[in-house]
Amino acid sequence: MTKTISGWGNYPQQESQCMTPSTTALLRKAVNLDGSLIARGMGRSYGDSANASKVLQTMCIDHFIEFDNVTGKFTAEAGITLLEILRVVMPKGWFLPVTPGSSYVTLGGAIASDVHGKNHHIAGTFGQHVKSLNLVLGTGEIITTSKNENTDLFHATCGGMGLTGVIISATIQLLPIRSSFINKKTMKAECIEAACEAFDNNSNATYSVAWIDCLSKGKSLGRSVLMLGAHAEQGQLEIDIKQTVSVPFATPSALLNSLTMKAFNTAYWHKSKHNQNQTISLMPFFYPLDAVGKWNKL
Ligand SMILES: Cc1cc2nc3c(=O)[nH]c(=O)nc-3n(C[C@H](O)[C@H](O)[C@H](O)COP(=O)(O)OP(=O)(O)OC[C@H]3O[C@@H](n4cnc5c(N)ncnc54)[C@H](O)[C@@H]3O)c2cc1C
Repeated sequence: MTKTISGWGNYPQQESQCMTPSTTALLRKAVNLDGSLIARGMGRSYGDSANASKVLQTMCIDHFIEFDNVTGKFTAEAGITLLEILRVVMPKGWFLPVTPGSSYVTLGGAIASDVHGKNHHIAGTFGQHVKSLNLVLGTGEIITTSKNENTDLFHATCGGMGLTGVIISATIQLLPIRSSFINKKTMKAECIEAACEAFDNNSNATYSVAWIDCLSKGKSLGRSVLMLGAHAEQGQLEIDIKQTVSVPFATPSALLNSLTMKAFNTAYWHKSKHNQNQTISLMPFFYPLDAVGKWNKL
């Protein structure tokens, strides 16, 4: 099927022949017939890494394979999304060891981009928690790789942006949690130096991230709102997903000018409270933008 595709940044757009095999055997056949295609997960990369004149969409290669509730070892096909994984494992007391800022990302895409999360300073990248993965090479051959088996190919594939082959399944080690809540602390930093200092002073925080006002000038250059987090020890284990609004059409770019952005940033800065402690649900802490559907149209 030919359709117009792009990354999450909506640019560049291109016509592409999109293949969507429904089984691993068909996927293997498609790769064998034409090794010049590239794998495409949810297309959540901002740029053009999953764009080509021929793409192989993994959305139907998305089955659960194995989940050990005692050890947290989890195996699934590569087209499964992080959200689908969380729906199953969170109620059982497990979470992703590393997660990007969107749950609408596939397991294969997370490995191929070797994504990082808010715990990068402690846990490293996603690839560090992959125990093994199965890959279809351009020849159609299926290879198992891990830190002990076909090691070079394993390391080249974690962060390989789909260029070593198509990942068809992977086993990862999950992180145990006691609650689906996060103890969050918000801190305001008056400029970029203060933000860096605050990060240094809180380097033992499990999760840390900052919103940075890139339009502020002078003494306020880079003023930031830091958010630190740690898994709460108590509370329910449930997944709380709310997607209440969706952006219906592409917003005219003239609306996003320095005046409107400065106004937004100023409002966000003043709305945030310094040294505020809250216990909040895990989903809005990790995936705030997932609450607005198709927000890339903004
Ligand atoms: C709101 C938002 C927040 C984000 N936050 C973060 C963040 O905090 N940290 C971070 O690191 N990234 C972040 N990202 C980027 C995103 O996590 C990565 O781009 C991720 O790779 C997207 O996964 P995908 O399934 O959409 O892959 P795609 O965008 O479809 O593909 C990405 C790359 O992976 C390859 N690929 C996909 N599936 C396979 C497969 N089965 N086998 C081999 N190669 C494959 C593609 O060829 C391509 O090179 C964010 C993106 C968004 C939209």
